[in-house]
Amino acid sequence: MITYYRRCVMPSTKPDIFFDGDGVCTACRNFERRTQVDWDARRAEFERLVADYRDHSGNRWDCIVPVSGGKDSTAQVLKILELGLRPLCVTSTTCDLSDLGRANIENLKSLGVDYMEFTANPVVRRTLNRIGLELVGDIAWPEHVGIFTVPVRAAVEFRVPLIIWGENAQNEYGGPAHSELDRVLTRRWLEEFGGLLGLRVDDLPGQHGITEGDLASYRYPSDAELASVGVTGLYLGYFVPWDGLSNALLSEAYGFKSYQTAVEGSMLSFENLDNHQHGIHDYLKFVKYGFGRATDHACMQVRRGRLTRAQALTIVEMRDGKFPWTYLGKPLDDILRPIDVSVERFVEICDRFTNRQIFVTDADGDLVRDSEGNLTKINYDNEP
Ligand SMILES: [Zn+2]
Repeated sequence: MITYYRRCVMPSTKPDIFFDGDGVCTACRNFERRTQVDWDARRAEFERLVADYRDHSGNRWDCIVPVSGGKDSTAQVLKILELGLRPLCVTSTTCDLSDLGRANIENLKSLGVDYMEFTANPVVRRTLNRIGLELVGDIAWPEHVGIFTVPVRAAVEFRVPLIIWGENAQNEYGGPAHSELDRVLTRRWLEEFGGLLGLRVDDLPGQHGITEGDLASYRYPSDAELASVGVTGLYLGYFVPWDGLSNALLSEAYGFKSYQTAVEGSMLSFENLDNHQHGIHDYLKFVKYGFGRATDHACMQVRRGRLTRAQALTIVEMRDGKFPWTYLGKPLDDILRPIDVSVERFVEICDRFTNRQIFVTDADGDLVRDSEGNLTKINYDNEP
């Protein structure tokens, strides 16, 4: 049995999120607090902070902006340009970049920014995808590391001290009370909340022929390197109101392209469009914890009063956690082939990570699947 939070539709199996006495989750409480924020004061605070980092010499950029080309980073860049900053936008290339993702990167550049894309060795990357999938049930492990490490590395190499991240994911998705108040992203945050699932870069040399040198792209700069440049990371989402749908509307007006329909396993057409492996990542999350992307999105919309909890439950049951036969139309076997995993092997891996306490099993304890290979949760809401 899964217990669900009473205000949104998140199950309590989600890590790093907590109940309060009323059965309300920390993410919903964080959102409540946002309504009391003096956003004018926050914006003024932001302008005061960045004033110290502005480059008046013409020798460097004012800030590094980590971007994926997605709707949030497109909106982030628009807001940063509006503040009169001159950013260097930095992308860590996704593991299996979609055509849509590439088009949105080109669109982001056309907003009028300097832009740099870093692509870690794809042969090593594929091995890391397989290690992540087999060892911690997350194909996206190297991508999570790269997203946080590459922009920080760029800040050190180009001696640009200020990094402006988008949103503190711990705020929207829950997380311990102390962490979401942080305005800055640190190594500790990365290790604790960056989605690394306890697998550290230092654990990897020797596995599947991975050498120390193969991992240079994944290493977070040392404290001494960070200190020599004075690297500071700020979350824009702390200083200006942050909302995915508003970001999508703004981005689309500036040429961002959405998918033609809600993405597989999701309820939206404008999120997670840049990597065909997203469906695999989200499905593993579903079998481990009983929620996928549709639950994440539905919770955000319930919090903002755009969906009722009842509507969200129906959407989640309809869309969430479907076996990822395709993602953005690309078949699963084509997505798995480069990392040398068959669909049969993938199903075995999923089964190994599946929490049998939350899915329907038969008399022998085997997982019950429908004709599409989908699992069924034992319960989709709390008992009345
Ligand atoms: Zn909640």
